[in-house]
Amino acid sequence: MRRRANLSRVLVQLAFFILVTLLLINVFTGIILDTFSSLREELSGRKEKEKYECFVCGVDRTTLDDFGIDKEDHETHEHNKWDYLLYLDHVRSRASDVAPLTGVAAYVAACDAAGDHDWLPLDTSFRLEQLAKGDEKRTNVSHDLRPVYDTLLATQAAVARLRDDVAADVRTALAAPRQKPIRVPPPAGHL
Ligand SMILES: [Zn+2]
Repeated sequence: MRRRANLSRVLVQLAFFILVTLLLINVFTGIILDTFSSLREELSGRKEKEKYECFVCGVDRTTLDDFGIDKEDHETHEHNKWDYLLYLDHVRSRASDVAPLTGVAAYVAACDAAGDHDWLPLDTSFRLEQLAKGDEKRTNVSHDLRPVYDTLLATQAAVARLRDDVAADVRTALAAPRQKPIRVPPPAGHL
């Protein structure tokens, strides 16, 4: 009788142990898998957003295409995220200086301190605004002259890109360490 009672107690304990352990393992596995899948979804959502929207202004590729702007060119020359990040770092480092910030830097520092993103060009850019104004002007140009007007705008954009490229080259050249001039020895007999 006592032996039977012991056996049943062992069986109950074993069943309890297996059930509780399995249940807990399943619960923890479910939580881990759920967390990983939500993280993966968030990451893929961010990648999709990064692929189709400008990181700084959030304007999508379709809108940029409508205005004839290449998204990669826009993100490299007009809204370069690293330029914005460096500027924010500059403003933050200047904010701890003794001299007070002025003008745009003061505005950006105030927005940054308040956690405000108003200083960023959200849903717009200088070039988009210029082109939107240009569209209004284009409707006022006579129909025959529109190809000339479009060529003029394209030339203006090409000149602006060229100017940016030259400015970037000059900045790179100025930032590069200067080399010592090479002294050419005078030819023999001309001492
Ligand atoms: Zn942008």
